[in-house]
Amino acid sequence: MDLQIQDRTAVVCGASRGLGMACAWALASEGVHVTLVARRADALQVVAERIAEATGKRPAFVVADISTAQGRAAVQASNTETDILVTNAGGPPTKDFTDLTHEDWERAIDTNFLSAVEMIRIFAAGMRARRFGRIVNITSATVRMPVERLDLSTSTRLALTGYVAGVARQIAKDGVTINNLLPGTVMTERLVELGATADALIARVPAGRAGKPEEFGAACAFLCSKQAAFITGQNLLVDGGLCTLTI
Ligand code: NAD
Repeated sequence: MDLQIQDRTAVVCGASRGLGMACAWALASEGVHVTLVARRADALQVVAERIAEATGKRPAFVVADISTAQGRAAVQASNTETDILVTNAGGPPTKDFTDLTHEDWERAIDTNFLSAVEMIRIFAAGMRARRFGRIVNITSATVRMPVERLDLSTSTRLALTGYVAGVARQIAKDGVTINNLLPGTVMTERLVELGATADALIARVPAGRAGKPEEFGAACAFLCSKQAAFITGQNLLVDGGLCTLTI
């Protein structure tokens, strides 16, 4: 299926590895001009090379911490406008809720909530003016199913979910969609770092395995397609059936 986004532009955050990288890869495969965003130039350089080799489409990259205003300004300076925005950053630490400090909460709110809110605010205006935009936020299956010791993740992503539920409807008439993609047990470095917590979840996945990053990337590319114009304000699980829900 031709997703009809050839030569569109995309900013993909948290793209030096894992799910962000997979989304960038899938978009580049569709002929999109991608800008990768993450904090380390060396890692971004390697990923840009790999994507260029595989897709023939060389991504640009911006070194920036999107949890800071300075980082977001750096992204905006090098991409004054974009057709597609994928918001994403590293997940918060796993901790027992009794050990969470005010500082932990502030960091998680900045990284997993406000970074996305601000990136949407920065780029949505231009998308609306040009009557085309696709925004995909990488959130988490914890939105649907809280996981022990991941309370920072559950709470901050639910805040973003609420924000998107309201804002997506306010800009739908302008040709701009916002959707959330909810990964659960997709095999990345983050999952390896979660150790026993991840192993216990994978054992419960009805599909009988962890997900592949490219499966997640494909879902992202579809939500960014021309054909997905009528899908907005949604939360799509990519979790092999892990979250048990009837609807
Ligand atoms: P990951 O840790 O492997 O990759 C995160 C990426 O974001 C890396 O490229 C990292 O360098 C970048 N990054 C981190 N903080 C950043 C910042 N402040 N500014 C810019 N870049 C930053 O994680 P992943 O497995 O690819 O998951 C992506 C997101 O999805 C995470 O927030 C994670 O918590 C969430 N998630 C993943 C799964 C899964 O199954 N893999 C499940 C639930 C939630």
